[in-house]
Amino acid sequence: MFCKNCGKEINDSAIVCPYCGVQIAEFKNNEPKQHCTLAIVGFVLSFLISIAGLICSIIARKKCNEENLEGGGFALAGIIISAVSLVGTVISLILIISMMGLAASTLATAL
Ligand SMILES: [Zn+2]
Repeated sequence: MFCKNCGKEINDSAIVCPYCGVQIAEFKNNEPKQHCTLAIVGFVLSFLISIAGLICSIIARKKCNEENLEGGGFALAGIIISAVSLVGTVISLILIISMMGLAASTLATAL
């Protein structure tokens, strides 16, 4: 876009013109989006405690959509990561249990 004051081409995300220092009118009335901290918490938790991360991320995603907050991407990433790790945990648990069951039955027949 172009600066309304000096007419020089400036970055679209610029709030203040780097050439003349005038604040860009379009951004003046736009309140900066609030960041949803819960989305970050959910994202971090998804690596540590997948179930807690999944719940946090789902709430954060809902909150981001309802209140138009920044961080919806983080929340979505948190949901995906925690869901994947949760599925991985469940699969490995099933594998461990079935292997234990197999071991137990092998042991039972051996005895
Ligand atoms: Zn300017």
